Amino acid sequence: MSQIMAQIEHIRNEIRAAQNRGPNASKDVLLLAVTKNVDVDRIKAAIGSGITALGENRVQEIMQKYDKIPDHISWHLIGHLQTNKVKYIIDKVSLIHSLDSVNLAKEINKRAQKAGRVMPVLVQVNVADEETKFGLPTEDTVDFIKEVKDMPYIKISGLMTIGPLVADEEEVRPIFKELRLLRDKIKQMELPGVAMDYLSMGMTNDYRVAVEEGSNIVRIGSAIFGARTN
Ligand SMILES: *Cc1c(COP(=O)(O)O)cnc(C)c1O
Repeated sequence: MSQIMAQIEHIRNEIRAAQNRGPNASKDVLLLAVTKNVDVDRIKAAIGSGITALGENRVQEIMQKYDKIPDHISWHLIGHLQTNKVKYIIDKVSLIHSLDSVNLAKEINKRAQKAGRVMPVLVQVNVADEETKFGLPTEDTVDFIKEVKDMPYIKISGLMTIGPLVADEEEVRPIFKELRLLRDKIKQMELPGVAMDYLSMGMTNDYRVAVEEGSNIVRIGSAIFGARTN
């Protein structure tokens, strides 16, 4: 068995175990393979091991790899998205995880209309309130969603956050729990046109806790492909 296949199998087992531990866990969890700085051969090995969705944080990397990857594989944009780059990925990605400004929403809406599609998006929330990170402050999220929800070519589909880098993943639990509770609150508001289908949280260092707290998309890079060199 290849190293990549063994790692994916291990992660799937860990996800299952976390689902069984957490009463708030989701029944279905998507393992999104984060392929930044990963070459096409290794991505194909992951696909051969059952991966169906890839996450990239740079538009340029999606552009470079897109034609080399089978059509049935879906791409997610997980990193900060500049408005002037939306046009390059609008027909390539199935979910944008990083909506965090009205301007970006307007641009996605405009480009999606041109492309003849509705683009599902997650609102990125900076729950940990880290200065270096993108995302909306938790307390601004509801107002933001109300402001963008009527744009006809974007579909608000859930929330995303990045946990703070800490030594012990237990420290991230309150952050993930807060995002879940925010998701529940927004769901209860039953805002027309707003779905709360996805909770994107958890990376290599903290996906177990994220799954216990209700994540249904974990974004995992180094645990699958090994440590990145940059
Ligand atoms: C790189 C990245 C990941 C994956 O990080 P790992 O720690 O390698 O699993 C997940 N989400 C985002 C937004 C990233 O940029």
